[in-house]
Amino acid sequence: MTDRYHRQTLLPQIGKIGQARLSAARVLLVGCGALGTVLAEQLVRAGVGNLRIVDRDVVELTNLQRQVLFDENDAKEGRPKAVAAAKRLGGINSSVTIEPLVVDLHAGNIEELAGLEAGGGRADLILDGTDSAETRYLLNDVSVKHGLPWVYGACVGMEGRMMAIRPPTTACLRCIFPSPPGPGELPTCDTAGVFSPVAAVVASLQAVAAIKLLVGDYESVGQELFVLDLWKNRLRTTPTLDAKRGDCVACGLRKFEFLDSRTASATTSLCGRNAVQVRPAGRVMVDLMLLAEKLGSAGPVERTPHLVRCQLQGAEDLQLTVFGDGRLIVQGTGDSDRARSIYARYIGA
Ligand SMILES: [Zn+2]
Repeated sequence: MTDRYHRQTLLPQIGKIGQARLSAARVLLVGCGALGTVLAEQLVRAGVGNLRIVDRDVVELTNLQRQVLFDENDAKEGRPKAVAAAKRLGGINSSVTIEPLVVDLHAGNIEELAGLEAGGGRADLILDGTDSAETRYLLNDVSVKHGLPWVYGACVGMEGRMMAIRPPTTACLRCIFPSPPGPGELPTCDTAGVFSPVAAVVASLQAVAAIKLLVGDYESVGQELFVLDLWKNRLRTTPTLDAKRGDCVACGLRKFEFLDSRTASATTSLCGRNAVQVRPAGRVMVDLMLLAEKLGSAGPVERTPHLVRCQLQGAEDLQLTVFGDGRLIVQGTGDSDRARSIYARYIGA
């Protein structure tokens, strides 16, 4: 029988044993955008056993420049990224179990999503495909608390960063960067753009670290922070071997500030668009069929198995998208208060 992994098992670093470990592995991928799509494709082609993809967003035309699993049809239909990615990945390697979840990951559900609650199918690894600094600190908290490795990756403009974290051995994110940047402190993909090759390189560095972790080769994992600026031909690694700090809030003092701040509801301005997300408090399940009927009086409604979309009629040029977990994305405003009031008016508080 032809073995689809033949060229990979030939590599002494992987071999048959490594391949068997990969196929038994469970991976949680948080965010399926520029980094996440490349990461997901590489891991699925490499033959991980189970890949859970968490992403709250839908595909848009401006994603296609760098988000390799999506096409024009996905953007036209406004398909949820997790769902569109799973469909594409299923055709690439049908032996991988892919679980797409169209939800917003937050402090209240991350442990469940990582399979850390009783009978949950614990993930072996978390991959960072998010564009949110706060989410990364949350991933770091969960990782350190439960001894679950994660791989940090970030890119904006021509620059990228990557670091693997394997608690309790290596330095964690907060050992290196004690606090997240303040709002407006760093450039975002909205203000500075993203160069697709940079995302592909960062995601590939993450995939290397991920596969080393999954096959159990820890020798060279989490020993440095990679920083690159590809337009300037610059790739630098900073050793982090001595960077683990006894007074690190997360891994030293074991205070999990991001995980423990299980805020009620939250609004988030969405990077790169004139839109605000409103997330309800607690766990919510919305009956999308019922909601579609209700919104029919407000404007034209479109319903898919994953979302309801409504173009509000009248003076307001707003589009509402509601997901099964109760999240609302209001397109056409950047004003959080206005988005909250729309939530109360059309969805109900
Ligand atoms: Zn630390």
